Amino acid sequence: MINVSHLSKRFGNHEVLKEINLTIKQGEVVAIIGPSGSGKSTLLRCLNLLEKPNSGTIAIDQVILNSQHYNHKQETNLRKQSAMVFQHYNLFKNKTALENITYPLIVGQKMAKDEAKQYGLSLLERVGMLAYANQYPITLSGGQQQRVAIARALAVRPKVLLFDEPTSALDPERVHEVLQVMLKLAKENITMLIVTHEMEFAKYVADRIIFMSNGIIVEEGQAKSLIDNPQHELTQRFLRQLT
Ligand code: ATP
Ligand code: MG
Repeated sequence: MINVSHLSKRFGNHEVLKEINLTIKQGEVVAIIGPSGSGKSTLLRCLNLLEKPNSGTIAIDQVILNSQHYNHKQETNLRKQSAMVFQHYNLFKNKTALENITYPLIVGQKMAKDEAKQYGLSLLERVGMLAYANQYPITLSGGQQQRVAIARALAVRPKVLLFDEPTSALDPERVHEVLQVMLKLAKENITMLIVTHEMEFAKYVADRIIFMSNGIIVEEGQAKSLIDNPQHELTQRFLRQLT
């Protein structure tokens, strides 16, 4: 489903991703953990070309892109395969919850307004936000805004959802409602790649956990075994320092 091969990314002389290889199956939920600066966000951002990789290939479902040479159409096609949920929601402030979902569909996909509205409402219902459809982001809590952002990401029917610390900016009492939505999506067999510091959640919801450090995948394994029984010294140190 997702196949990343020898993916490298440099910022100047700083090699942030070093020949990353990664395979993710349809329906799999994979959590990425690791210290600050290890390249977790950069990896996610490379998958949808928010950052341009320096080398390697990325394949999501049927779309394969060689980062050395690709054209605009290939770029657009790969972008469409994934949707990203950011730490800071990134909703349009001057649009309601519903409009945040429908606007990209109407403008980007030329969906009819009525159809977009019905679809948008169904997505809001899926994340428990139907009652807030006509409210502006500023009137919503962080957790509510993030649920709208998840609905917006789902709207384009991506093959994979990419989450970059979706709960890190939330008040502690708001974390749970976002994790609940993600858990529900995981049960619906949606493929998800989640950068998170929520170890308990990762252990519970992820099929597999990847530990990154300094631009490489140091260790990966079944979620529970990686957390409870890490093999690599760096993983052990990272997990110890969290507790
Ligand atoms: P965190 O847990 O703090 O979010 P991360 O694992 O997501 O960290 P990245 O954001 O991927 O780490 O950053 C990896 C490295 O790349 C860091 O050293 C960072 O400073 C550097 N970096 C990231 N983006 C850029 C950029 N646009 N220009 C220059 N350097 C960058
Ligand atoms: Mg990051």
